[in-house]
Amino acid sequence: MTDVTDLLARIIAFRNISAGSNLPMLDWIEEVARPYGMTARRFPDPTGQKASLLLTLGPEVPGGVLFSGHTDVVPCEGQAWSADPWTARVENGRLIGRGSSDMQGFLACCLAALPALAAKKLTRPIHFAFSYDEEVGCTGVWDMAKWIGASGMKPRLAVIGEPTEMHVANAHKGGLIGWCKVKGVPGHSSQPDKYVNAVMIAAEVIAEINRIRDDMRDGPHYAAATPPWSTIQVNQIRGGLHGNIVAEDCEFFWEMRITPGSPPDSDLAVLERMKAFARTLEPAMKRISPEAGIEFIVQARIPPLNPVSDPAILREMLDLTGTQQPLTKSGGTEAGIFTLQGIPALVIGPGDNSQPHQPDEYVEIAMLERCIAFLDRLGDSCTA
Ligand SMILES: [Zn+2]
Repeated sequence: MTDVTDLLARIIAFRNISAGSNLPMLDWIEEVARPYGMTARRFPDPTGQKASLLLTLGPEVPGGVLFSGHTDVVPCEGQAWSADPWTARVENGRLIGRGSSDMQGFLACCLAALPALAAKKLTRPIHFAFSYDEEVGCTGVWDMAKWIGASGMKPRLAVIGEPTEMHVANAHKGGLIGWCKVKGVPGHSSQPDKYVNAVMIAAEVIAEINRIRDDMRDGPHYAAATPPWSTIQVNQIRGGLHGNIVAEDCEFFWEMRITPGSPPDSDLAVLERMKAFARTLEPAMKRISPEAGIEFIVQARIPPLNPVSDPAILREMLDLTGTQQPLTKSGGTEAGIFTLQGIPALVIGPGDNSQPHQPDEYVEIAMLERCIAFLDRLGDSCTA
């Protein structure tokens, strides 16, 4: 095994699914980075069982570049793996294992590039920003991204190493997801007007969501996204106890996807429209019981990635990767969270975009090598 495959095998072996602690992996990464003089900062979650890790190489001044990756992976249960997902194996130039593509291959590339990066005469810093809980809706990276944005060493660019096969992705949709919980008043269904039917109220809110969905088709379009407009839908609902009891509870899960180029906080504006509609229903509910009502709970927010406004940065990354055109990525990443802190972000990573969350997930070892060379060349921009 070469250096990077060895590093990646070690990372995969941590079995770092989002539900577990990532601290053993962070301890190990710090140990690998320490001989190169990287400064480590941790941003723990409220339980203290997980953290984001920011490693900084070179002088702590503004500018420089940030390499961003998440430490967590999705579980493998119920998937048809042909061997142990947590034991990396190499076949036909591919390294197979959970997270190889999404996106621990990139973490391994960062560590493999480290000796060469540390040997440069850096005048600007190189940051590794490794987050937790990306796979549950990019919830773990926020503290670290906000800190670096306000730190006085704001980088000129964040590279998010999600799988693009080393193409440059400069846009993707954002997301806002969560639950709506309707509290009704139960009773015999022969007397519907005496009670509050949570299922019927939820249906009204969902009808409003359908109207929002129609309006979104007339909203901002981003031609390279599929579909080019924003979307909203409900895919999960549960409520009611029995056919002849007025339903006391109903809850449904909503998800919206906001197209790049939408005005800032468009997702929050849509949520506000949903809430405003709910407020029109609540007075009638509360006349029957003050306990009745409608609540919205946001589970996760992933801002869209809007194309970088500085064409020179995009040009530079296309040249460094030897590619011609930027792509639009289908899934969300942490990139938009960095751009919200005023840090331009692009998605460039070694994995194959068909591989994330699949059984027998793999990464081409040649892609890992290309990624290391890219990180090294990008590091040169921190020496001038
Ligand atoms: Zn990922």
